[in-house]
Amino acid sequence: MDSQYKTRYANGLPAAVTLTSMEQWNNNNVPPMFAKPTAPIEATVLGITDIITPDAPGDIMHIALKFPDGMDCPYIEGQSISVIPPGEDPKTGRAFKPRLYSIASARYGDDEKANTISLCIRRAVFWDPELKKEDPEKKGVCSNFLCDAKIGDKVMVSGPVGKTMLLPEDPNADVIMVGTGTGIAPFRSFIHRLFINDNEQARNFKGKAWLFLGVPVTGGLLYQDEFAHAKAAYPDNFDVEYAISREQTNADGTKRYVQNALLENVDEVVRRMDNGAHIYFCGLRGMMPGILEALENCMDDCSVFQERMKEVSFLLFMYGLDGR
Ligand code: NAP
Repeated sequence: MDSQYKTRYANGLPAAVTLTSMEQWNNNNVPPMFAKPTAPIEATVLGITDIITPDAPGDIMHIALKFPDGMDCPYIEGQSISVIPPGEDPKTGRAFKPRLYSIASARYGDDEKANTISLCIRRAVFWDPELKKEDPEKKGVCSNFLCDAKIGDKVMVSGPVGKTMLLPEDPNADVIMVGTGTGIAPFRSFIHRLFINDNEQARNFKGKAWLFLGVPVTGGLLYQDEFAHAKAAYPDNFDVEYAISREQTNADGTKRYVQNALLENVDEVVRRMDNGAHIYFCGLRGMMPGILEALENCMDDCSVFQERMKEVSFLLFMYGLDGR
């Protein structure tokens, strides 16, 4: 794969990848860790691309990592891996601790060879409000290491982990995904699994997958071409709603955030949740009060939904927003 993040659409699997080796994994049988954080393996940067335009704030990189040759490193959609940045933490004098990131590729990887994993990383910078400039001393160690990586660089990784944010087993269950910014990562893996890679789960899927994504500007839309492709190919099963906060406003003149997009569709969201839809949230913690408030407005006259929200809240806090 070159430095592009784009997948080969609908090409099916290369003959070398056997269905049985990758399709044995499911929600009840998640892949075991291929490496523990205390014994990480060395992956190689295969491709790295800034996927937002220069007018969008900051850098967001799509990074594809290749696992060591001959090593089986399975993961499934919705899981996370840890990256261990090189060097020592000057505060402790010890090796840096692992940082957890959501996996942005589906289990076959972007090149469908089943030996890569992709991440979606925003470069974390620290804005000093007193100095009114960035303080490089306080920038995010791991995100900067990853965003500065070059093809061929080595990255220590461990994992996979995570059992709470997996796709529903029921092929008829709707999947509602609500994310801000790089919180898109696990949802991209879902969308690749359901609409872009050829597999039985995709062929059987009869529900609606509905993505709500909040970004600051149009140039910050993440994986827009892939989602447009999925929507064109599966108009009855996939839809996407963007909230572009610095370009769109609500009727009262406030920024249109992802919770506003959800609220505009709340009747259908509630109806689908009553019918067993799974709802997932990933991204900035700040979106949650607005989202819960928007959904709670419908709860008084919707007891089934109220019950569902209890489960949702539980999952939310188990997953830990902002935890990358
Ligand atoms: P971002 O680009 O800074 O923000 C995305 C959008 O959210 C912007 O439009 C922003 O609007 C809006 N927003 C800000 N405050 C909001 C609020 N209170 N309610 C609703 N929307 C709000 O996002 P980011 O820097 O990519 O951060 C994404 C978060 O996802 C991070 O906290 C990251 O830790 C987390 N995450 C990342 C991963 C991963 O694998 N990389 C996985 C899971 C979670 P304005 O800026 O215009 O106000």
